[in-house]
Parts: sequence; structure tokens; C-alpha cells
Amino acid sequence: MNRPIRSGNPRRAIVLGASMAGLAAARVLASHFDEVLLIERDELTDSATPRKGVPQGRQLHGLLLRGAQAFEALFPGIIQSLRDKGAIEVDFSADLRWHHFGVDKIRFPSGVCVLMMSRPFFEQEVRRRIVEIPNIRVLSQHDVTGLVASADRHRITGVTVHRRDVGSEPEVLTADLVADASGRGSLTPKWLAALGLSGPQESKVRVDVVYATRIYKQPDPEHLPSYKSLYVIGKPPQGKRLGIIAPIEGGRWVTLTAGMLGDHPPADPEGYLEYAKGLPLDDMYRLLRHAEPESDVALYKFPSYQRRHYERLSELPDGLVILGDAHCSFNPIYGQGMTTAVLGAQALGTCLSDHLARTDGSLLGVSRKYQELLAELVDVPWMMATGEDFRYPEVEAERPLGYPILAWMMGRLHYAVAHDRVLAKQFLLAMHMMQPPTSLFAPRFLWRILAGGIAS
Ligand SMILES: Cc1cc2nc3c(=O)[nH]c(=O)nc-3n(C[C@H](O)[C@H](O)[C@H](O)COP(=O)(O)OP(=O)(O)OC[C@H]3O[C@@H](n4cnc5c(N)ncnc54)[C@H](O)[C@@H]3O)c2cc1C
Repeated sequence: MNRPIRSGNPRRAIVLGASMAGLAAARVLASHFDEVLLIERDELTDSATPRKGVPQGRQLHGLLLRGAQAFEALFPGIIQSLRDKGAIEVDFSADLRWHHFGVDKIRFPSGVCVLMMSRPFFEQEVRRRIVEIPNIRVLSQHDVTGLVASADRHRITGVTVHRRDVGSEPEVLTADLVADASGRGSLTPKWLAALGLSGPQESKVRVDVVYATRIYKQPDPEHLPSYKSLYVIGKPPQGKRLGIIAPIEGGRWVTLTAGMLGDHPPADPEGYLEYAKGLPLDDMYRLLRHAEPESDVALYKFPSYQRRHYERLSELPDGLVILGDAHCSFNPIYGQGMTTAVLGAQALGTCLSDHLARTDGSLLGVSRKYQELLAELVDVPWMMATGEDFRYPEVEAERPLGYPILAWMMGRLHYAVAHDRVLAKQFLLAMHMMQPPTSLFAPRFLWRILAGGIAS
């Protein structure tokens, strides 16, 4: 039998990894624990530069509207502050030329607005808010090297850490709850094995995506196109590449070419432009040909979706939760990672509030309850993203029952949103995780999809 975790104060939570999932989790846990230790292996400075522990930070990052709202709820005022410091608001319909399925989506003021900024700029602003919270202690340049368990291995009681700056011996830090937000490379499965416990089953969907991002100076206003941002995607199942231009802080453009299943962008500047030439529209090529680069081309290889099913583990120990990319990492082209991470952190808060309201402060059972809740939460973005990738026959994975009908309906929807504002708005809300994707199949939208959209 599991033993209750020590009740009464003081309580300590430890968070592994100070990236988006870890920062959001630390904020949430600070409301429930006397002390939160946020442990990060990188040196954290007050700068908006990419860092080693987050190599994807050099790549274009968009934050979905739902994610922005969740960060705002955790850090009130952050969106305005980002805006004031230079993040650029983009209406996902009015300001974006979005070419998809061989057609341009209809452009109108949708109110579905996102902030475009570089990933390190966003992380810096969140980190600034975290260091202001009195009961959060950030231990940077500390490497977590293992989990520590109770003698019966029914609960995790802390972690071992190694200080990078002084090269000390590993030390043990105890906690009532350990939250692993250490990213896709999380070692929790190995650490559980080292304790003699089973690891989670993994789902992987191979998509073989390569990202190539380059920063440019924005051209002078007279050379700017009629849109703020460009998004061009090849038509599946033949078209496997995409291109994006988006404005970010500092009067710059972040530009991305990406391709999947072998159609990969190269890292050399000439090859980067040639690759953009092969997109269904030549806008990106034309705009970048004479623009002034501010960086080299940064490449990132993303082999597969990866989801770890901790909710299915029969011997999941208490005192441990796993969230963010450590739990599930998605094909980045759908821009769901940061939003799912912050929603996962909020769900942890909800789970703890519900649990603590009904108990004497024991955390017994929280880990399982949380991982089950998180699995449900992640099902939606997982289904939305893999559902688009399943259009490619080379993506080897079992398609869900009824997939051909769903793919056909979504295909019709993609055409219909070229001229139907009502559908287009609902599509954007679903894509930005503001509405469930099933909302698109409500009768008032379904007939519009079947009719191929209504001109508006
Ligand atoms: C190419 C690419 C593009 C993406 N684009 C988007 C996008 O447009 N929109 C979006 O929402 N998401 C995007 N994502 C996903 C997004 O980057 C992540 O989902 C998001 O950062 C949340 O990740 P995380 O915090 O869980 O992990 P990570 O960001 O990977 O951070 C893990 C942290 O843990 C630290 N760490 C790791 N191990 C240890 C250890 N043992 N001890 C101490 N510290 C440790 C690392 O240094 C790091 O700080 C993209 C991802 C990729 C790969």
C-alpha cells in the first residue's frame, strides 16, 4: 500500500527544467507549496538570447491564442508587457496571407490575434515574472541526475542534483512533489528503471521534419507586402514543405522553411532561398531575395511525435508528475507545444486544488489523477495534429476508426474557409484551442462544410 505523503507544512515542490513548462508549473505550484525549487541545468541570465538547453529556441515559435490567455492568467499583464516591449500582434486572418490546400484563406478581421516574438524574448519575460515570486527559488547550473524514492518505492521523495558551476558531488534535495518539465529528452523513464520501477509505454509517430529558421531585418515600409505575415503550406499528400515569414521584436522578420518526410531544407543561405522557391507561392522567395539577413540559417531535426503514457503505469509512484515535452512532444508545425505545456501546468493547479480541498494535505493519489487528466488534455491537440499528418501515406501509424471520412471533411473545410468567414472564424478558434475541434461539426457549421462554404 502507498503511504500518505507527509502532511502539514512546510511543503516543498521541485520542478525540473526552467523552460516554458517548468516556468508555468513553478508559478502554479507556488500557490500550493511553501517553497518551490526550480532546477535548471543552464546558466540563466536576464537576456533574450537562445540557450543550450532549449536548442529549438532558435526556431520560429508562435503562441496560440489559448496559450496566450493561459500565460496571461498565470502572469497578469504579461501580454501587454510583451506588446510594449516589441512583440507584434497579428490577426490570424486579416494580417496573414495563408495559402493552404492550394487556396488562400479568406482575409477579414477575425479577432483571433496572436503575438509574434522570438522564443527567447518570450521566455525572458516569463522568467522575469518567476524570479519576482518570493517562494520560488531558481537553482540554475544545477543538473538533476536522478530521482530519490521511499524505501518501498511507492513515492518519490526528492532528486539528486549536481552543481555545474563548482563541480561538486551530487546532493539530495527532498520534496513532497517533483514535477518533471525537463523536455523531450527527459530521463524519468531511465530514473524509474534505476529505482527498479517500470517506465511508461511510448507512442511515436514518425514525421521526419526538418526546420530551418533565419532572421532578417524587415525591409523599409515601401517594400513591405500587403500582409504582415505569410504562411504557405504544400498540399498533401505531395506537398511536404512550408514557409513562414512573421514579424518579431526589433523590427525583424523570423522566417522559416520546413519540410517533412525527406523533403528537407538545407542550411546554406543559397539553398535556403532555392528551397523557398519550391513552395506553392513564390512570395517568400521574392521577399527574401533582397532582404538583409541578421543570422545564419539554424537547422533543427524533429524525427517523431513522442508521447509517454504515464497514466497507464500500474506502479506510478506518488510525488511525481511529468508535463510539457517530457510528457508529449508534437510535430512543431502546428505550434501546440507551449500552449499544451501551460494548459498542463494549469491542470496541475486544478488537480491540486481539488485534491487538497478533500484531504488533510496528503498528496496520495495526486500523481495518477494528474497524469490521467493530462492524458485527456493532450488527446485533443494530438488528434488534431496527427490527423493532418496522417494524410501522408508515408506516415506509418494506425489511423483511427473513421479517419478517411474525417480527412475528407477536413479537406472540404480547408477549401471552404477560402471564402466562408463564419467557418473560417470557427476553424481559427479550433486551431487556437479556444473551441474543441468537434465544434466544427455542429449542424450550423457542418452544412456549410458540406456545401463547400458560403461566400461572405
Ligand atoms: C523546432 C521546434 C519548433 C517549435 N515551435 C513551436 C511553436 O511555434 N509554438 C509552440 O507552442 N511550441 C513550439 N515548439 C514546442 C516548444 O518548444 C515546447 O513545447 C515548449 O518549449 C515546452 O517545452 P518544455 O518546457 O516542456 O521543454 P524544453 O523547452 O525542451 O525545456 C526543457 C528544460 O529543461 C532543462 N533540463 C533538461 N534536463 C535537465 C536536467 N537533467 N536538469 C536540469 N535541467 C534540465 C533544459 O535545459 C530546458 O531548460 C517547437 C518545438 C520545436 C522542436
